[in-house]
Amino acid sequence: MSGIPYGRQSISEDDIAAVTAVLRSDWLTQGPMIERFEQAVAQRCEAAHGVAVCNATAALHIACLALDLGPGDLLWTSPNTFVASANCARYCGAEVDFIDIDPLTLNLSVTALAAKLERAERAGRLPKILVPVAFAGQSCDMAAIRALAGRYGFRVIEDASHAIGARYAGRPVGCGAQADITVFSFHPVKIVTTGEGGLLTTNDAELAERLRRLRSHGITRDPALLQAREQGGWYYEQLELGFNYRMTDIQAALGLSQLDRLEPFIARRRALVARYRDRLAALPVGLIADQALAESAWHLFPIRVDETQRDRVFAGMRAAGIGVNLHYIPVHLQPYYQALGFQQGDFPEAERYYAQAMSLPLYADLSEEQQDRVVKRLAGLLDSGVARCGW
Ligand SMILES: *Cc1c(COP(=O)(O)O)cnc(C)c1O
Repeated sequence: MSGIPYGRQSISEDDIAAVTAVLRSDWLTQGPMIERFEQAVAQRCEAAHGVAVCNATAALHIACLALDLGPGDLLWTSPNTFVASANCARYCGAEVDFIDIDPLTLNLSVTALAAKLERAERAGRLPKILVPVAFAGQSCDMAAIRALAGRYGFRVIEDASHAIGARYAGRPVGCGAQADITVFSFHPVKIVTTGEGGLLTTNDAELAERLRRLRSHGITRDPALLQAREQGGWYYEQLELGFNYRMTDIQAALGLSQLDRLEPFIARRRALVARYRDRLAALPVGLIADQALAESAWHLFPIRVDETQRDRVFAGMRAAGIGVNLHYIPVHLQPYYQALGFQQGDFPEAERYYAQAMSLPLYADLSEEQQDRVVKRLAGLLDSGVARCGW
């Protein structure tokens, strides 16, 4: 029997045709597919602007730069995320701090956030940027975060790498109702893929312009922005230090084609989640709780297994060819962040979850037979008297 990964892409003949068409065209990069993809994502997200980049890590980096994050500034995020959500601040020379998670939704706790903001205000060390992460595809309590942002004056970059197609308060994630900038990832394990790729949405035209410039070396050809008079058709100016963070037309064409199936992808993930919930109900595992107002895109299906059994169960699943995974090692426990002064015990809920966490396979092409195999193996491994995992 072949192995089952925890996540993988779903590629159709249409996707292949879309990529092939670009390969036969004049433009492999900096061509027309980029804008078409940007507009298609922005439209789906009900956002005014979309800016495509080479990956979500680059997107987070230029989002921080566009919001003027720099040395002496602070960015806060969740410890239960991929390292990129925090590293973006370090690229800008800023400092990172974390807010512990809500043990039910596994997203950053707004109660902990509110308490930390009060202390930070007294200490004169408020964050400039908050990066809430829509863990597993489910938004944080964004209404509360928006209210706190208004009160304390920080900006919000939503890391929605897991959450294209998700909704919050009846609108698509990325619409900009609560976040200044939203970031999506199109890595193959995510919901929609471009191979590597990322995209930022915003409703702020100036921010969008700045993001486009930072994506391409800090260069502009816009006559309104040139310092000198245009000197000929070759002329451009570098106004600030930018990067080559561009997406290719090959990637954008794949993304555009994939986007056509966003709804079926999400519907399939939801159906598989309903089946998991049904079949896991009698097993001693903990499941992620629903966040009010949020409709998850279900990038991941994390479960909790009693910490005395988790390692054995995880190894048993892998030995059976079932690619369980773990999301996430708390970022503050990484050696790089430990060297910056973070310690074991700093964010106990994220650490407690880490000791119990396991992500089960979930992707659009996962068959019901494969899913049943996952559940059967899990049930077998849990047989030996595992206590129901508490929250
Ligand atoms: C995947 C991921 C990223 C990074 O995305 P890339 O496109 O691989 O750079 C950032 N944040 C989170 C939460 C992710 O899951």
